[in-house]
Amino acid sequence: MTAPVTRPSPSPSSPLAGGRPDAGVGNDPPVVLELDMVTKTYPAEPPVEALRGVSFTVRRGELVGIVGPSGSGKTTLLHLIGTLDRPTSGTVRVTGFDISQLSDRELSALRAGRIGFVFQQFFLAEHQSVLDNVADGLLYAGASFTERRRAAADALARVGLSDKLAVLPTKLSGGQRQRVAVARALVGRPALLLADEPTGNLDSSTGQSVLDLFAELNDEGATIIVITHDHGVAQRMGRVIELLDGLILADSGAPEDSRTASQSGDGRDVDDSYGSDGREVADSYGSDSDNDRKVPPWP
Ligand code: ADP
Ligand code: MG
Repeated sequence: MTAPVTRPSPSPSSPLAGGRPDAGVGNDPPVVLELDMVTKTYPAEPPVEALRGVSFTVRRGELVGIVGPSGSGKTTLLHLIGTLDRPTSGTVRVTGFDISQLSDRELSALRAGRIGFVFQQFFLAEHQSVLDNVADGLLYAGASFTERRRAAADALARVGLSDKLAVLPTKLSGGQRQRVAVARALVGRPALLLADEPTGNLDSSTGQSVLDLFAELNDEGATIIVITHDHGVAQRMGRVIELLDGLILADSGAPEDSRTASQSGDGRDVDDSYGSDGREVADSYGSDSDNDRKVPPWP
């Protein structure tokens, strides 16, 4: 597959136009993420109920901040949204796939193809050029070496680092490093960019410029969730979901229908081309064990 990073400007009728969930009046963008009464209980004595019934829906083009104090369940929620863990009860759907229905291998494929991660600590390979760091974001996408490098150069242009392709991360400032990490997360054109305290290791003005970048990428159509303990960071997002003691305390931007959309339970709300039960992911493997790369790319 080719993995173009730059996309044409959305036409005025496109659900991506304006990049806001309410931009397509009467024509809702597809659901990227759906949580329905999600709980997570850790086995301990007594058991720890880290999430106690969390429901929300994120549509393509949203920019969401999830904010809460230490212990509120943010990391647990990040693991569930990022398909790194499964809920104790309730449903987590990523681009229509119920993650509880997928095998570990299918989950890895879903994660590699549909979710881009950005972490507080950047996690760059220090001995590799900026370009190779970003190109590695496509290792599991089935792209050729040349395609990977071309897509990486495009992604780095999007984050304003075209002049740093050959540089090692050690030569970069913290803000530049995080831009590289953002480019790596975006290079495969994931359905969802998931950022965990992305400004946590940056001084405040550098942090603001990374948040500006998220806003720009969102204007271009990227769906982004930022998880943070910092209300100042969360307030920069179009929609803020507040978490406390494993429950949603407030959700500033929930579209009218997002709480009820999941109650139909039939996945019809979800982009039809991806099914709603994960069978399509499973089918797409065929019998070839090397087929993790065949998860259909997010459009
Ligand atoms: P946050 O990231 O907002 O600080 P966490 O999701 O890390 O919140 O934790 C939520 C609650 O779950 C806390 O009470 C924490 O102590 C507990 N917790 C988190 N991970 C585990 C675990 N692996 N085993 C037991 N309890 C855990
Ligand atoms: Mg945490």
